[in-house]
Amino acid sequence: MKTIGFIGLGHMGGPMALNLVKAGYNLKVFDLVPAALKALVDAGATATPSAMDAANDVDVLITMLPSSPHVKQLYIGDGALLQNISGRPLIIDCSTIAPDVAKEVAAAAQRRGLEMLDAPVSGGVAGAEAGTLTFIVGGSAEALNHGKPLFDVMGKNTFHAGDHGAGQVAKICNNMLLAIQMIGTAEALQLGVNNGLDPSVLSGIMNKSSGNNWPLEVYNPYPGVMENVPASRDYEGGFLVDLMNKDLGLATEAMLSSKSSTPMGSLAKSLYALHSSQGNGALDFSSIQKLYKP
Ligand code: NAD
Repeated sequence: MKTIGFIGLGHMGGPMALNLVKAGYNLKVFDLVPAALKALVDAGATATPSAMDAANDVDVLITMLPSSPHVKQLYIGDGALLQNISGRPLIIDCSTIAPDVAKEVAAAAQRRGLEMLDAPVSGGVAGAEAGTLTFIVGGSAEALNHGKPLFDVMGKNTFHAGDHGAGQVAKICNNMLLAIQMIGTAEALQLGVNNGLDPSVLSGIMNKSSGNNWPLEVYNPYPGVMENVPASRDYEGGFLVDLMNKDLGLATEAMLSSKSSTPMGSLAKSLYALHSSQGNGALDFSSIQKLYKP
């Protein structure tokens, strides 16, 4: 049976790792926050005292960390994981980070003779829990095939975007579009409510009309319209405003480096930055509704 090291067990990594345990894999898990390990240990995973211990002598190492500095620090910074790792695992980083950092870390792994994939995900916490994530992979086709059985446990769709970093580029494009859709959905719902419509009735209409989109279908931002979404629990949990801000910052960097024009993405970045500055950074990103609904 394969042994997997899993580092970063937050909103996404926790349920992803749990699905691997349920599928029968041996897991060695580590997170800086000990409370994040409890559900995994209860399910049969082994908690390790350090990231290095989780990474040593495993068949596959998976990381699910917040952002570029965390990934860089762990693999090639102070953590020096790549320098000291024992064994020859396939390394899969599922964090959403800058494409250049993904390339830099993958190159460092290659110098150690290790294959690495950038494999950011889409589908949110619900997708992580249900094992229905979409994996967007950058790296070699051989390495992707090697990791595919694990992607199939944690997700429903796996796409090969291209070489190292390409998974991150595709993920950044997707999340810029998601932010634009979420803001547009919040704006349209508030316009309807302000003109006397019931937000549930309006959502039902737009769901079956040409304005339909992912937030309307599964992640409605207006409180009380949908059960089991962050909007119905004061925007707790889910995908944090500050993580969306991070992704929109990555989109801005990609826009600048490629001399692209992204006026809608830039406006989305400004609105999420404003929303965060008003004390909402740790809420789910659908809380952008609050910008419209006092
Ligand atoms: P999170 O903040 O809930 O989890 C990150 C975890 O990493 C935390 O538990 C933290 O303690 C841990 N961590 C940080 N540095 C560490 C280190 N050096 N060693 C061990 N553990 C460390 O974030 P999340 O929502 O799970 O998101 C993780 C990544 O997935 C982000 O890049 C995010 O953009 C992306 N993502 C999130 C969602 C979502 O809906 N939450 C969806 C798709 C993609």
